[in-house]
Amino acid sequence: MINMILLGPPGAGKGTQAELLVDRYHLPHISTGDIFRAAVKEGSPLGQKAKAFLDAGKLVPDDIVVGIVKERLNQPDCQEGFILDGFPRTIPQAEMLDSYLTEVGRQITAVINIEVDFEVLIRRLTGRRVCRNCHAVYHIANKPAKNPGICDHCGGEIYQRDDDTEETVRKRLEVYQEQTEPLIDYYRKCGKLKTFNGEEPIQTVFDQICFALEEQKG
Ligand code: AMP
Repeated sequence: MINMILLGPPGAGKGTQAELLVDRYHLPHISTGDIFRAAVKEGSPLGQKAKAFLDAGKLVPDDIVVGIVKERLNQPDCQEGFILDGFPRTIPQAEMLDSYLTEVGRQITAVINIEVDFEVLIRRLTGRRVCRNCHAVYHIANKPAKNPGICDHCGGEIYQRDDDTEETVRKRLEVYQEQTEPLIDYYRKCGKLKTFNGEEPIQTVFDQICFALEEQKG
């Protein structure tokens, strides 16, 4: 059973590694950021509540996020394991997650912490572009689309996320340092933390994560 958390600053490659892990382990990928962006796009009540926080690079209040994650983890497809990406982001979220999992007789089995230097993150995030349709990720310098503005995979429109502008990126990194970084110690103390260098090539990081997961399974 793999009940995994992907931890790390915005732009560390959590989403990219999550996609590869989904292919390998066939687990549901729960990205709270994706859930909020979809809700904002739909204009649902959740989206209306979350929009101002996302636009400002601030965190959505803990009770809203935890409610959504619990509901998601309750679904049948999460009973054989899951990959949490972008959650938990604060100590109270981690504590609420732990008490929920204890209540249902489950626990987190691995916390994958991906580290990247902040200046590298700023370059990665401000240059990041995403397909509106299939969410494929590009970078203006490192991974441009073959035809500018058009997704290589589905022909969808490529855009810059509202929160990938330099001002918001700096704010998100500040929020990460203040509110999310303490989780590294939290999970280290439980003996669940495994740290990886996210500046290595994507495939290298992926191989190292898989190795760590297999080793743990024994
Ligand atoms: P991400 O795509 O993970 O960088 O998330 C984008 C935005 O969604 C964040 O900047 C927050 O506004 C919000 N968000 C995502 N996950 C959480 C969370 N666990 N707690 C609070 N806010 C979140």
